[in-house]
Amino acid sequence: MGQPDNNDYTPPLPFEGFAEALLRTFEIALPEPERFLTPDDLDQFLSEQRLSAPPAGRRDVRTVQALREELRTLFDETRDEKERIEQLNGMLSRSPVTLTLLPGAALALSATHSESLVQRVQTASAVNLASAIARYGFSRLRVCAADPCRDAFIDTSKKGARRFCGNRCANRWHVATFRERKKRDGPAN
Ligand SMILES: [Zn+2]
Repeated sequence: MGQPDNNDYTPPLPFEGFAEALLRTFEIALPEPERFLTPDDLDQFLSEQRLSAPPAGRRDVRTVQALREELRTLFDETRDEKERIEQLNGMLSRSPVTLTLLPGAALALSATHSESLVQRVQTASAVNLASAIARYGFSRLRVCAADPCRDAFIDTSKKGARRFCGNRCANRWHVATFRERKKRDGPAN
């Protein structure tokens, strides 16, 4: 890898990793796909993500689940890109942010303080996803190719050829493909 170089420094995206983390709270391949079963689950997730928000209620859980579904449709490669951009812009127009200049001249971006939990979750996801698209391109929004996993992810690799959400899925896919080929090519000993 060589020595770290100043030119290689990639500044973190606003709300780094938030959209992907939110999407991973529903994993179809798990025995219980839904992570948000109670308001406490949602509170815990937001505290892990260091997104400050008022305590969640039952209604917030349902609304965040719906928001997560909407976010997921943006990863659908069969959809027209222009339409997806319009959808994301619609979300951004409902996502007020506050910019704060910190000592040392760093710029901090946060979901506007007075907003509700759902609004803050929407702001964090929409701003994070839009910044990721601006940096990596729309084509880097992917869905994992290893059945039954349908996890959405952003391919931030240099080559941009990632097909799986992680190593576990990549290994599972390769093992399954190997077995499939063996079965097709006749009996083995
Ligand atoms: Zn996967």
